Amino acid sequence: MKLRWSRRGVLRAGAAAGVGLLGSRSAAALGAPAVHTRRAQGQRPLVISSANGLEACNRAMEMLEAGEDTLDSVIAGVNIVELDPEDTSVGYGGLPNEAGVVQLDSSVMHGPTRNGGAVACIEGIKTPSKVARLVMERTDHVLLVGRGAQEFARMHGDEIETLLTDGARLRWLEWKENLSDRDDWFPPSSGVGDFPEDDDFTSFYREHGTINCNAVAANGDISGVTTTSGLAWKIPGRVGDSPILGAGLYLDNDVGACGSTGRGEANLLDCCSFLAVEFMRQGKHPQDACLEVMRRVEHKTVDPRLLREDGTPNFSVNFYALNKKGEFGGANFRPSRFAVNDGSGSRHVDSAYLYER
Ligand code: ASP
Repeated sequence: MKLRWSRRGVLRAGAAAGVGLLGSRSAAALGAPAVHTRRAQGQRPLVISSANGLEACNRAMEMLEAGEDTLDSVIAGVNIVELDPEDTSVGYGGLPNEAGVVQLDSSVMHGPTRNGGAVACIEGIKTPSKVARLVMERTDHVLLVGRGAQEFARMHGDEIETLLTDGARLRWLEWKENLSDRDDWFPPSSGVGDFPEDDDFTSFYREHGTINCNAVAANGDISGVTTTSGLAWKIPGRVGDSPILGAGLYLDNDVGACGSTGRGEANLLDCCSFLAVEFMRQGKHPQDACLEVMRRVEHKTVDPRLLREDGTPNFSVNFYALNKKGEFGGANFRPSRFAVNDGSGSRHVDSAYLYER
C-alpha cells in the first residue's frame, strides 16, 4: 500500500511539473488541453455535455439562439438521448438492474430561480429529466424516488411504459447466465441470445453511462441536467450520483455549472460538482476546477479493488464545467473528451487528465 501511495505521488508530481514547464502544445499531451474560452466577441450562448451529447448540444443551442430558457434548452437536448433506444446508458433502452428492471435517475438545476429537482430509481418513464423538472416546479421538494416518483409522473400525465428493449434484455440475460458456473442458468450458447461473435462479455460487465448537459445563455443565465440509467446490473434500489444535487450536477447562477458521468460512487463521496463550482467561485478556470476535483477523488481512492497495479484508480469519472464568462473544461483520470457547442456546431474537445494511461 505504501508503495502505491508513493508511486501515485511520483506520477502526480511528474504530471504537474510537466504542465508547468512545457509550452501549451506539449502540456496538452500531458493532460492539460489548451484552456477553452468562448469566442471573444462575447455574449453568445454556450452548451457543453458528456461525449454522447453532440446532438443534445445542437438542439440546446438552437433553442438558446432562439432566446429560450436555459433549462428548457438543455432538457430538450438530453430528451433526444433519453428517447434513443440505441443509447443503453440513458432513459429508454438503458441497461437494467440486477433484476432486469430499468431504474432511472435524473436531476436538473435552474440558475435564474436558484432551484433544482431530481428523481431517483424511477421506473417506466422514458424522460426522467422532465419529471425532475416537475418536482422542482410543482412541489416544495427536491428529490422523489421509486414508486412515489413514478406516481407523481403519472399524475402529471406521463404514460408508464416498458423501458427494457430487447437488446438490453438480451445483454442482461447474458450477464446473468455468466455470473457463475455453479447455478441453474445456462450460458448463451444454449441459444437464448443472438450475440455478435466478437462481443466481449467482460467489456460490458459493469457498463455505465449518462448524459450531463450544461448551458450558459447570452445573458449569463445558467442551467444543467444529468440523466442516466446508472450502472448496469446494479443492486435494485441503488442510486448513483446523477440525481444528487452537488454530485451529478451542481450550479450557481453567479458562478458556473459542473456535471459528471462515470463511477457515481466516487463522485458521491466528495460531492464533486459542488466542489468544482466552489473552486470556480474562488477564481479557478473550469478546467482547473475539474482537475482539482480529480485529485480529490484520487486522494479518496484507497480501496485496492479500485486501484491498478501502479496504484492509480482503475475506474473512470468525468467532470464537465463552464462558468458565467463562457469558459469551459473537463477532466478525467485518463484521456477522454466531451462535447461543446459555442454556436458553430457541436464538436468534441479533449478533457484534461492526470495519467497518460
Ligand atoms: N454516474 C452514473 C452512475 O453512477 C453512471 C455513469 O455515468 O456512467 O449512476
